[in-house]
Amino acid sequence: MKTIPRYHIEEDRPFLPKDIFSEDLYCPGFVPVEAEETISVKRVSGTGGAFVLKGEFGKCYEVKFAPEAGVVTAMFVQGDPRALDENETLTGTKVNCDFDSQDRFMYVCRSTPEYLVICVSGKGAPVYIGERTILQETDTAGDWYIPGPMGSLTDPDGTFANYRWTAQQVIDNLYEPYRAKYPGYISRTHLGKDQTGQFDMYGYVYTPETYKTTFFLTGGVHSNEEAGYYALAKLMQMICDATEEDDPFRILRQNVRFVVIPVVNVWGVSQEHNPADEEARKRIRRNSEDVDLNRDFGDVTQQETKNVLAFFRQYADSTEFAMDFHNSGKENCSLWYNFINNTVNSQVNYKVTNHMYHRLMELGLCDKTPNMEKIPGSYYKASKYLEGRIWNEFGVPTITVEHVINSTFPHRFSEEGFTLAVETYGNFLIQNALFFIQR
Ligand SMILES: [Zn+2]
Repeated sequence: MKTIPRYHIEEDRPFLPKDIFSEDLYCPGFVPVEAEETISVKRVSGTGGAFVLKGEFGKCYEVKFAPEAGVVTAMFVQGDPRALDENETLTGTKVNCDFDSQDRFMYVCRSTPEYLVICVSGKGAPVYIGERTILQETDTAGDWYIPGPMGSLTDPDGTFANYRWTAQQVIDNLYEPYRAKYPGYISRTHLGKDQTGQFDMYGYVYTPETYKTTFFLTGGVHSNEEAGYYALAKLMQMICDATEEDDPFRILRQNVRFVVIPVVNVWGVSQEHNPADEEARKRIRRNSEDVDLNRDFGDVTQQETKNVLAFFRQYADSTEFAMDFHNSGKENCSLWYNFINNTVNSQVNYKVTNHMYHRLMELGLCDKTPNMEKIPGSYYKASKYLEGRIWNEFGVPTITVEHVINSTFPHRFSEEGFTLAVETYGNFLIQNALFFIQR
C-alpha cells in the first residue's frame, strides 16, 4: 500500500502562488477616517500605518498578519494614497473582510485601477501576503464536464428525486438500488443512530478492484442544503454506472475508493420541508438538539458528529482528499465558493472554482464584477467545521463546496439549478481525482 504523505502549512507553501509581499508595502503615517457612509485614508504624522497594494481585477490577495499587528480596516481607493499630502484624505470603499483571530486575513481586489489599503494600528507586521489569480482564461482550458439534464427535485414523484424525502428515503431510493446492482463494488455500514436515537445513519464504501486513492465524501451536514446531498447521490450513481471509455467518471470508478456518508443530519433531512418558509428552513439546518453540526466537529457533542468521525477514522490513513457537499444562499457571492486548504491540491481547487466562474459568465448567471471575497475562505483552521477537523486531526486536505441557491440563480430544486450543482461538485471530484491518481 502506498504511503500517504501528509501536508502541513510550511510544506504547502510551494503550492501557493508566489509571495508578493515585501516590507516596502508598509507605509507609516496613514490612519483610517470613518464617517457615517464613507471611509477614507488620511496621511498624518505619528503612529499608525497602512499596507498599500495596487489592486487588479481578478486578483486576490491573502494577507496574514502576526498577532501583534492590529488590523483597523481595509478599503479600496481610486488612486495611490502614497501620493497624498499631509492631512489630505482619499475616500474609498470599505472592504468586508474576515480577520480571524488566528492571524488569517483574506479578500479580493475587484477592479482596476484601485488600490487596496489595509490600515493597521501599531507597527504592521505581516508575515505573508500571497497573490492568487482567480480569473485567468488559461485556467478555463482543458477537460470540463458539462452534464446533460439531471432531473429536478420538485416533481411530486421526483424526476430524479424528491426534496421532501426523509433521510431513509434518500438511502432506500437512491443508494440501495445501486448496492443491489453492484454488490461487489458497494458495501454499506450502519453507523448508528442519530442524537434522537430514532434515525439511522449509514456509510457506503465503493471499492474498485484496484484503486489508487481514497476520497471521503459527506452530504446533508446541513439538512436544508438539498442540492448538496442530492447531487452527491446523483454523482455516486453516475460513478457506479461509468463503464464507457469516454465517460468522465470512469477514471473515478476504476481508481478511487469512495467512503461516503450520504446524509449526516438525518433528523433534519427527515423533517417537513417548507422551502417558502425561511424560518423553517433555518430550523432544519440544525439537528434535533438545535446544534449546527458543522460547528460541532471540535467539541463533538452530538451523536451524528461522533458517528462521522468514528467512520472516517477507519479510513483516515488511506484517505487523500475529503469533500463536504453544501449549498449556500449568499446573495453577494458570484457563484460557488469553497473553503480551500492551503494544501497540496489547492491549485486544483482554485482552477475549478475559476473555471466554474467562467461557465457562469457564459451562461449569463453572474455579472462581470462579482464579489469573490468568499472564494478562498479560511475555515480550515477551525476544528469545529468538518473540514477543519479532518485537516487538523488527520492532515487530509478537505474542501467544503458550496453551490449557490440565491434568488438570482436557478433554483436548487429546478432542473437547471440541480444540473449546475452536479456540474460544480462533479468537476471538483473529477479534477481532484485526476490530481491524486496521477501523483
Ligand atoms: Zn452548509
